[in-house]
Amino acid sequence: MKGIGLDIEVIKSLSDNYIWILINYDKSAAFVVDPGEASAVLSWLKKRKIKLLGILITHHHPDHTMGVKGLLNCYDVPVYGPHNSPANCITEKLQENDDLIFHGKKFRVIEVPGHTHDHIAYFSSQIFGANHILFAGDTLFGGGCGRLFEGTAQQMYGSLEKIKELPQNTLIYSGHEYTLANLNFAISIEPNNDTLKQRYLNDLQKRNVNQPTLPSLLSLELATNPFLRVKNDSVISAVREKFNINDDSEYVIFEALRKWKDIF
Ligand SMILES: [Zn+2]
Repeated sequence: MKGIGLDIEVIKSLSDNYIWILINYDKSAAFVVDPGEASAVLSWLKKRKIKLLGILITHHHPDHTMGVKGLLNCYDVPVYGPHNSPANCITEKLQENDDLIFHGKKFRVIEVPGHTHDHIAYFSSQIFGANHILFAGDTLFGGGCGRLFEGTAQQMYGSLEKIKELPQNTLIYSGHEYTLANLNFAISIEPNNDTLKQRYLNDLQKRNVNQPTLPSLLSLELATNPFLRVKNDSVISAVREKFNINDDSEYVIFEALRKWKDIF
């Protein structure tokens, strides 16, 4: 993605992880987000003669942090991450509303627990090119959301509500390529959502030529991602029918939807 002087590139890692790299205007320095492995990042930097300035961690899972040690062997840089993380590699402990400057651009920390207790997202509060950006980790995916490994459905619902309030032209950079599987589930929930069906075709084309489906625009997620649409009649009625729920409060619908996806 070309921004005003900045650029974001991706390294595909492990089976379906994305390691995002935030590069400065003259392509001399970079921050890396959630390095699940070191070797791929080191060779990427070396090939381009780009220096590493820092490491951003969204949460403690090994597929997002395993590369930190290897990177620190080669670069003496800060490791940003959640203040309450069990990952002991984090040197700059962050919490809600902390402000950061990366390559002269302002970023804000948003706490988004649910997938894990220690999950944060990094939001650019300045317009970046035509868009804001969010490094979302494993909280929001293309067409879906993270599994609940540590947090409760209520926490995850609250976290997604925070993301929903961001500007609609926010580009979502997630930690995994799960979009097609998520959209298959979404279509089973909302078979009459034309925007969703069109998105599936667009993203299928990208995957057929091995292109990432990410980043995706928040406006598209709001129109197609069932986990952001639990106030929508079509999502409510699908969940109520499946689980025989009478309660249609948003949080109850969200919790049932998340359980449904786990067994889909
Ligand atoms: Zn994770």
